Amino acid sequence: MGAPGSISRMKLLLAAVCALSPVAALTAASPPPLPVLTRSDVVFMYQAAREIYQEYGATVLAWGGTPRPASLQAAAGMKFFGSVGMVTEFARYHERFPANYEEGLCRDLHGKPYQVPWLTDHQHNGVPFWWCCTRQPRFRQYISERVVETVKAGAHGVHIDDHLGTAGSLFIGGGCFCARCAAEFQAELKLEAIPGIDPRNFNYPEVLRSWLAEAPGRKVEGHPLWPRWRAYQLRGAANFMSELRELAAKTAGRPVPMSANACLLWGPHLSDFQTLDFFSAEIDHHASALKLSPAPVAAYRMAEAVRRPLASTASGGDWAFVKERNLAGLVQGWIALGYACGHSLMAPNRQWCYTKEKGTHWYEGPREKFAPLYRFVREHRALFDELETHADLAVAYA
Ligand SMILES: [Zn+2]
Repeated sequence: MGAPGSISRMKLLLAAVCALSPVAALTAASPPPLPVLTRSDVVFMYQAAREIYQEYGATVLAWGGTPRPASLQAAAGMKFFGSVGMVTEFARYHERFPANYEEGLCRDLHGKPYQVPWLTDHQHNGVPFWWCCTRQPRFRQYISERVVETVKAGAHGVHIDDHLGTAGSLFIGGGCFCARCAAEFQAELKLEAIPGIDPRNFNYPEVLRSWLAEAPGRKVEGHPLWPRWRAYQLRGAANFMSELRELAAKTAGRPVPMSANACLLWGPHLSDFQTLDFFSAEIDHHASALKLSPAPVAAYRMAEAVRRPLASTASGGDWAFVKERNLAGLVQGWIALGYACGHSLMAPNRQWCYTKEKGTHWYEGPREKFAPLYRFVREHRALFDELETHADLAVAYA
């Protein structure tokens, strides 16, 4: 931490590194985020009992679910972010549209729906957790209704999990090729003149299928139009997030702060940063190395490069490792590292653990070891607030 108001050398380096990058240009042009988090905030991930919030000195609830009178009362005085999931809420979506939920499903290159890879052990009324398409009106309606419901229930802000929606599945065989994704891509290509392409009769799934069939071993990522397709899907995600932000503000009659589980170490997660006021995200902490990792530091710097705070948590694999080895000391290091970087690790009160063998399980952090560190921050706010970070570290990112 440097003197109040100082411009750190790190920021100058970042400015130099980013001077020619689109992110830097966008950052300069975009309105500043709402001031939701201060450096001394103590962010909880999930709902907890009031005495637990108090033990930690909690000030913000980041992934608060849908606010209910009891949960709002327990979190009184805290900023309550209600959460909406674009990938994890299949059961709820299926219940909302039991007769026509299929209209909103993503489709692979062969027209078949595909599952969310980390929810393959989930079903609802015998239906697997399909990935749903954020370009399809049925699913957009569902997500929009959830945002409105969350704001009306009294949330201060909205947290979006899996905020890239359809674009988050690009790694699964190229993502969604449903009729709408194909048609809107065709419409976009009509605005450009690409040599050798007649957009009037252009169907990208068909083009890809033929191209793949021409030579064994080809992958969709190798197709000449892949970079355009990828950018198109990520822009679509950012546009939808922007619509949701406007919807939340219109519903509440005030600006509603937004956050997302934006795993910044994968660059595309920055696609919609302009619609976000802070990042509240899973960042790999590499627990199995049994020492502090530079990965979360890089994520904190990435957040800073786009002028947003990052309230991080470790990955499900990290928490599973911590639980198995009882590594509370390592977690104390993560907490200190977060605040030292000018950001924070969300209070590790109850953490989602995941391994292939055990699936989902939970780590209940020893409060007597973690809570005093967070209370120290709250009791010494002047050491944190309104200061700029100062580090001899630049992040160069293409
Ligand atoms: Zn689609």
